[in-house]
Amino acid sequence: MQELDLIIVGAGPVGLYAAFYAGMRGLSVAIIESAQVPGGQPQNLYPEKLIYDIAGLPAVTGADLTKNLLEQLAQISHRLFLGESVQKIEKEEGIFSVTTDKSTRRAKGVLLTTGAGLLKPRKLGIDNEETLANEGKISYFITSLKEFEGKNVAVFGGGDSALDWSLMLEKVAKNVHLVHRRTAFRGHEITVDRVMNSNVQVHTPYTFSNLIENELELKKVKSEESLNFSIDKILVNYGFLTNQVTLAENLEVSRNGRVKADSMMQSNIDGLYVAGDASDYPGKMPLMSVGFGEAVHAINAMTKKLEFDHPLRGGHSSSIF
Ligand SMILES: Cc1cc2nc3c(=O)[nH]c(=O)nc-3n(C[C@H](O)[C@H](O)[C@H](O)COP(=O)(O)OP(=O)(O)OC[C@H]3O[C@@H](n4cnc5c(N)ncnc54)[C@H](O)[C@@H]3O)c2cc1C
Repeated sequence: MQELDLIIVGAGPVGLYAAFYAGMRGLSVAIIESAQVPGGQPQNLYPEKLIYDIAGLPAVTGADLTKNLLEQLAQISHRLFLGESVQKIEKEEGIFSVTTDKSTRRAKGVLLTTGAGLLKPRKLGIDNEETLANEGKISYFITSLKEFEGKNVAVFGGGDSALDWSLMLEKVAKNVHLVHRRTAFRGHEITVDRVMNSNVQVHTPYTFSNLIENELELKKVKSEESLNFSIDKILVNYGFLTNQVTLAENLEVSRNGRVKADSMMQSNIDGLYVAGDASDYPGKMPLMSVGFGEAVHAINAMTKKLEFDHPLRGGHSSSIF
């Protein structure tokens, strides 16, 4: 099989943008994604949450951001393979073989945009949690705000996700209770202020004690005090456990499983680059705008470094399209 210029592993926001950028620069590119739908975290974890810090988009939901990225990507020639999990990347005589559970493809360069890997939400930690989750009483992320319309909701967590969701839910739910085991929240000050000035009922420092039918009991931390109220749904925002798999032998990863990158976003393996949440270096911020910039860096660096057998398109995007 004729090898490609570039294979991108992971079709999250950074992988989708990277593919567009590589195509715009004239590279032949394929993206391989283990999920059945492209879009990564914004599409799968928070499709209806508003994102405010993408350049040029004052506010956009996770689902609309994915739609826009796919529209942008459609402008260039590319292949997108969904439902294939990359398991191994090997390099022989300067060419990479990327092996999935279904096939092997070859490319001159590889860009890892595998994000946080395969994500698993942290649980509330109660006995019948799985049953309650299957019944839809406990959720770990929101795919449709409609499910919460007119409902009494308890949100558990103290970070930005719990605060953001409480504010989003306040607009559609009957009542929103935010429960955190500490007195102080870990989120942005501005979001904490917005929650404190909203109709969200904040319960700190409280933890889950019991749920009988719709009656939720909370216990105050280091106290005998308890609190009861009626709820229809629980949203747990305790963060995510990730399973980062090292895809290439001898690939240097940091303690959190992210791939160590140099200032051009190259890993310790020549020609194997990384961008987005999957990358690590001093001062790394796991944000999309940062990841988009890293992808641009990586692709420009690899186009300079790897020898492609066709002239590369350079210059500003307006002169390319
Ligand atoms: C609740 C929440 C709110 C957030 N809000 C914001 C915000 O407001 N602004 C902001 O900038 N960031 C926000 N973030 C962070 C943002 O979502 C991430 O920075 C972003 O998703 C990283 O993009 P990525 O493409 O690097 O990785 P991901 O989005 O994690 O995508 C990686 C993709 O790679 C795929 N993959 C992984 N391993 C393999 C494999 N072996 N083979 C094939 N495919 C694979 C995964 O299935 C996934 O689709 C938020 C995150 C969360 C959880």
